[in-house]
Amino acid sequence: MSKVLIIGCGGVATVAIHKCCQNSDVFEEICIASRTKSKCDALREKLESTTKTRITTEQVDADKVEEVIALIQKVQPDLVMNIALPYQDLTIMDACLACGVPYLDTANYEPENIQDPQWRTIYEKRCREEGFSAYFDYSWQWAYREKFEKAGLMALLGSGFDPGVTQVFCAYAQKHWFDTIDTIDILDCNGGDHGYPFATNFNPEINLREVSAPGSYWENGHWVEIPAMSIKREYHFDQVGMKDMYLLHHEEIESLAKNIPNVRRIRFFMTFGQSYLTHMKCLENVGMLSTEPVLHDGHEIVPIQFLKTLLPDPASLGPRTVGKTNIGCIFTGKKDGKEKSVYLYNICDHQECYQEVGSQAISYTTGVPAMIGAMMMLTGKWNRAGVFTLEELDPDPFMEALNRCGLPWKVEENPMLVD
Ligand code: NDP
Repeated sequence: MSKVLIIGCGGVATVAIHKCCQNSDVFEEICIASRTKSKCDALREKLESTTKTRITTEQVDADKVEEVIALIQKVQPDLVMNIALPYQDLTIMDACLACGVPYLDTANYEPENIQDPQWRTIYEKRCREEGFSAYFDYSWQWAYREKFEKAGLMALLGSGFDPGVTQVFCAYAQKHWFDTIDTIDILDCNGGDHGYPFATNFNPEINLREVSAPGSYWENGHWVEIPAMSIKREYHFDQVGMKDMYLLHHEEIESLAKNIPNVRRIRFFMTFGQSYLTHMKCLENVGMLSTEPVLHDGHEIVPIQFLKTLLPDPASLGPRTVGKTNIGCIFTGKKDGKEKSVYLYNICDHQECYQEVGSQAISYTTGVPAMIGAMMMLTGKWNRAGVFTLEELDPDPFMEALNRCGLPWKVEENPMLVD
């Protein structure tokens, strides 16, 4: 009998909750808790007649550790799934430790207020010492390793697609196909069209912060940082076609660099259309991506939060998005002394996702692995004390579950490489 507390009820959580309800043998009971309880209630009403999973709902402000502790004590879950925002990672981890409950999330910690002087000092030191300047990094959550180990609890970090499945792909390639992996290129292609001039596929604040930041990649044991969007390549994606893609910093590079032995280079590319980039540059130039409060008509507003209010809710893009995503990893390396290259990827159709769970493919490709990560932990397939990213665990049961739960993968030997 397993009971899960799911915090957050946005685009990604909605998919994860649908998928939990399709797997009632594992998820016998779920409690959906979020800042806006009405969203949790609406989802429960939609799902409860279709599933054996028992669903309850609660209100919580997960920025407050004591509220999360009180909620965990009330619900008594076997696992807490944090599918709110990266801002809440540490408060929810603290609450899990206080209550002795395992933890899972889909994105690594970053603070909401990047002007906080205490955080800023640590951040600037890390930028200097490590050589990349993203606002997010694993150091904050890796600092919890010893605490989770001592408590005999597991914390699984970044169980989405990228991060998440991409790391499972790396572990699978390492386990089955290579003696040594030399290079990894992670390619994230969204060939979907929602018909709006500008919208983001997941939380606009998190998304725009990520893509407007300098890019970086790992090479020969250190980070190489480049100006935002300054490395562009073209690639022909299976079932999508030719796309422009740009090198970004991405969180899984940081853990893969530590966990894939002797890897020489790891890069991450994401596709963007010219219209998206032009809109983003314009918004950036006029200050709309700023997280610093400004006075408007006597009221303090945060520009990027105001922008979020204006943009379409990512959760509403489902019915209008057509096309496919294609996300995966290209590996080069050696097996039995011979050079080889393999491309491992998933293709996901926006409209098929919408027919199944009422969401577009970006939420789907993140929500399904969140459910699978939870399933691995609840069924004991992944059961270790400490804080882990997905490449540190046995990839085989997760890969099998991807095929079964809606994200089947494909393999191409000798693919076109990215120069
Ligand atoms: P949304 O903005 O759609 O949803 C966020 C949810 O969290 C909302 O329900 C929101 O409530 C709730 N929330 C926010 N703050 C709090 C709080 N203080 N207390 C309680 N609940 C809160 O985001 P997404 O669903 O798009 O993204 C969810 C997560 O998934 C993010 O961390 C994102 O970075 C990550 N992600 C990971 C990917 C991957 O591949 N690994 C890809 C895409 C996203 P309210 O309704 O009140 O706003």
